[in-house]
This record gives sequence, C-alpha cells and structure tokens, in this order.
Amino acid sequence: MVDRSSDAVLERARAFAAELAPRAAKFDREEHLPREVVERMADSGFLGATVPVEWGGLGLTPLEYGELTEVIGKACASTRALLTVHTSLVAETLAGRTSRRIKEKYLPDLASGRRIACFALSEADAGSDAEGMSTRYVKKDDVFVLDGHKKWISFAGIADVFLVFATDNGTVSAFLVDRETPGVEIRPMSGMLGNRAAHMAEVVLSGVEVPAENLVSGIGAGFAFVANTALFHGRYSIAWAGVALAQAALEEMCTYAARRVQFGSRIGSFQLVQRMIADAVTGVSAARELCRRAGRLRAERSPEVIAATNIAKYFSSTVACRVTSDAVQVLGGNGCWNGYPAERLFREAKILEIIEGTSQVQQTLIADFGLTTFTKKG
Ligand SMILES: Cc1cc2nc3c(=O)[nH]c(=O)nc-3n(C[C@H](O)[C@H](O)[C@H](O)COP(=O)(O)OP(=O)(O)OC[C@H]3O[C@@H](n4cnc5c(N)ncnc54)[C@H](O)[C@@H]3O)c2cc1C
Repeated sequence: MVDRSSDAVLERARAFAAELAPRAAKFDREEHLPREVVERMADSGFLGATVPVEWGGLGLTPLEYGELTEVIGKACASTRALLTVHTSLVAETLAGRTSRRIKEKYLPDLASGRRIACFALSEADAGSDAEGMSTRYVKKDDVFVLDGHKKWISFAGIADVFLVFATDNGTVSAFLVDRETPGVEIRPMSGMLGNRAAHMAEVVLSGVEVPAENLVSGIGAGFAFVANTALFHGRYSIAWAGVALAQAALEEMCTYAARRVQFGSRIGSFQLVQRMIADAVTGVSAARELCRRAGRLRAERSPEVIAATNIAKYFSSTVACRVTSDAVQVLGGNGCWNGYPAERLFREAKILEIIEGTSQVQQTLIADFGLTTFTKKG
C-alpha cells in the first residue's frame, strides 16, 4: 500500500526523478522505455495520480498533479508522456462522467498501473481536424464492430487498453478496446523527433468486436464529450511538461554560462548571453504561474478553466521551445551534441507545440475566447 499523502508522493517522485534523469538520454537513443520504469511509476502510485482514492488512485489535487508532472517531466519526457497519456487522457477521463460499469471494469486496474492505457484519436488524414476521422463503427447485435487505422498513438506498443474514437457517418463515439481482442494489430513506429521512448505505434482495427458495455458515455458522445474532456486534462499536463523542459534547459544554460570561458571571461558575463538567461528566467516563471492559475481554477471548477488551460498550454509550450533553443545557443557546439542534454530538451519541447492541439489550434481557441470575452458591447 503506497503512502497517498501529497508530501510523500512528491518526495517519492523527486527520488525517482533523481534516478531517472541520468537514464533519459539512453531511453531516447534506444527509443525504448524499459518495462521496469513503467512498473516503478505504477508501484509509486503515479499512474493513478488524479484518479479518486475510491477507485484506487492517489486523488491528487490539480496543483499537486502539476508538480508531479513537472518533476517527472524534467527528468524524462517519455516517462512524463506516460503520465499524460495513461493518467490524464484516459484514467482521469474515465473517472469523470462514465458509467459505473466502465469504472468498475477499468479504473482500479488503470489507477494501480496493472493495465496501461493509451488514447487513439489521430489518423494519417485526421489530426487537428480529428472529427474528420475515417475509423468506423457499426452496431451488430450486442457488439460494436470497429474498422480503421490510428496513427501516432503513444504507448500503443505496450498498452493493454485503447481508448478508440470512431465514427458512424459523422456520429463519433468512444470505445475501450482490449489489446487482445481479435483484429487489433499494433505496428510500432520509430524515428520521432521527441518522445522517442514512448512506444509509439499505429493501431490497425479490422472487424474488431467491442462489447456494447465498452462504449464510453453513450453514442455520439465521442468527440463532444470524451475527446474534449480528455484533451482538456491532457493540455493541463502538457502545460506543466513545458515548464519542466524549460526549467531543465534554464538550469543547463546557467550552469554552462557560469563555467565556460571565452575571450578571458565567463560567457555568463556577456550581456547578449545574459539576455537569453533573463528571458528564460522570466518565461519559466510566467509559464509556471499560468499553470498554477489553471490548476487553481481546475480545483474550483471555474468556468474560466478551459480558456486558462489553453492559455497555459500555448504559452508554456512556446516558452519551452524558446528556452530550449536558447540553451542550445548558449552551449554552442556542445548544445548540438548529445553529450549534453540541451539538444534532447530542444527536440522534446517542439513536440509540445504539436500534441494535444497544435499551437495554432490553441491560438484559434484563445482568440475565440478573446472575441467573446473582451469585445465591448454596443
Ligand atoms: C510525439 C507525438 C505523440 C502523439 N501522441 C498521440 C496519441 O497518443 N494519440 C493520438 O491520438 N495522437 C497523437 N499524436 C498526434 C497528434 O495529436 C497530431 O499530430 C496533432 O493533433 C496534429 O495533427 P497532424 O499531425 O495531423 O497535423 P495537421 O492537423 O495536419 O496540422 C499541420 C499544420 O497545420 C496547422 N493547422 C491545422 N489546422 C489549422 C487551422 N484550422 N488553423 C490554423 N492552422 C491549422 C497545424 O497547426 C499544423 O501546424 C501524437 C503526435 C506526436 C508528434
């Protein structure tokens, strides 16, 4: 039985992260997150971080979960991705407004990490416009039959259960598909820019029969409710992932600038280098505060939380890209070499501008919010 107090959880996370960080480069190089790391995440309770205690989770508050995401994300982006996908996108979504039957069948195993979940929405021709998916379902007696092809599915390579989205002539529904169901084929992918150890795969579904009880939240709730809820949780996690990468890059940048000597002086004494450091310190502080604000609004269930989460995700991933790029700059040639972490942080940061809604998608949502909120009446 793990200690569920938030202090104990975060202490465990820091100890785990201290061991994880030196291994992250190897996981990235080998494009493989070892099973033992996944098990350690599970045994520590992290995979049920936001799942309520009654379902076997840790029941962390949003701010506590944010801190956990930052601690793990600073050590290893692929390990943090497991938290985002399994915990935020799937487990936390199922812990919401889904049937008691689904909760009983899946949540305790997901919260404990006995089973790993992944989120299968994207397809080769349906990304930002995910509703335009071509994976189909038809109802046949007491099962739904799924046919289609999902792409870019993080952790599909090792997941036991897939939250799959499919359409019936424009009516999108969500289903829980067990890995061992006949007709499920997993095709591992490699060669990614970042999240390389996240067991990414394509998921091909050929006449996959899913029991009717595995329909999540009813016919037609797939996009408007399930996917949007999942992405809302996922964006919060990604916002903190940006803080994590930016903080890690800031530390690399400062450490190097304080030691490296050129022209007889430490490069940290040159004002053009100091400008990058100042911008990094400012950006990380601002991103963290936006994440905290989103976390507080989540805890209060404020109507402002959706916009606050989109803003935090957009800003934080932008800051992560800039700060990691500047870290590469400050480290010069060493920044471009995998003997230092800067180049990996730089690659990982770019991923955050693509996943859980690209930066352009966030900008569109934020602009819509701005136009409805700040347009003067009359
Ligand atoms: C590392 C990684 C992990 C991933 N993991 C998962 C996963 O676990 N599950 C899953 O389902 N998917 C996953 N994805 C897929 C990811 O969600 C998509 O890549 C993302 O939604 C973007 O879709 P796309 O790649 O098809 O790009 P597109 O949608 O084709 O976008 C291409 C470009 O066009 C821009 N664009 C598109 N529409 C608009 C618009 N209306 N206005 C302005 N600009 C626009 C985009 O911002 C982008 O710059 C993952 C992707 C990566 C890279």
